[in-house]
Amino acid sequence: TRRKLVVANWKMNMNVASATSFVERLSITGDTSGKVVICPPFPLIYPLRAMLPDSSISIGAQNVHWEDSGAFTGQVSANLLKELDCKYVLIGHSEVREAGETDGMVNQKVKQSVATGIDPIICVGETHKQREQGKTNEMVKGQILKALSKVDDISNVIIAYVPIWAIGTGLSAEPEQAQVVHHVIRETLHHSFGEIAEQVPILYGGSVNQKNAHSLSEMKDIDGALVGGASLDAENFSTIVHAF
Ligand code: 13P
Repeated sequence: TRRKLVVANWKMNMNVASATSFVERLSITGDTSGKVVICPPFPLIYPLRAMLPDSSISIGAQNVHWEDSGAFTGQVSANLLKELDCKYVLIGHSEVREAGETDGMVNQKVKQSVATGIDPIICVGETHKQREQGKTNEMVKGQILKALSKVDDISNVIIAYVPIWAIGTGLSAEPEQAQVVHHVIRETLHHSFGEIAEQVPILYGGSVNQKNAHSLSEMKDIDGALVGGASLDAENFSTIVHAF
């Protein structure tokens, strides 16, 4: 049985006050230990950790640099994230790729995270045009293989399928449509890494909300969600957590 993960990607939203009220309003019940991850903007990592009642909710970063330290203005190292108790880091999100991140950089960041003991959540996904041209599977496969080039052990790797056309559009992929791609991702991992592929959580992201989360969760290879907009509201996010 694979672990389930529901990850909030706050992107460039929230502040100290809104994060405080988010934590107060979060109503997660039952045993969800290890299932919930919040990825706030960098400056909120430290205060958010302190606000959360216990470690059953994990913190993740939205990016990381691949070098240990040095003259890299504006960048944050994996070691510092580790020190601040980040268990996860988003890598390869299309919004970061769009700002200049290449497959090679994604790969270096993945290797650095794994070496530091932070679990990378590797984001992949096609544009609307690529889907129309029938290039979805090829695109996603290529991104996965490049991200995991020279990575020996994928037992702590998480993949998120985040089709670009579904981000912030309210137009989520249909569960069956997402399942097709999730299956391709698992086959790709299986081909390169063997049986361990069965243990890798593959999350879906792209207009996940409190209404569609349940039907997405019923798909065989959808092991959780990467939630943008709907993760800014504590009540909506709690509902999504309970759907998985
Ligand atoms: P939305 O949930 O706002 O569509 O964002 C998806 C996303 O980019 C997850 O990282």
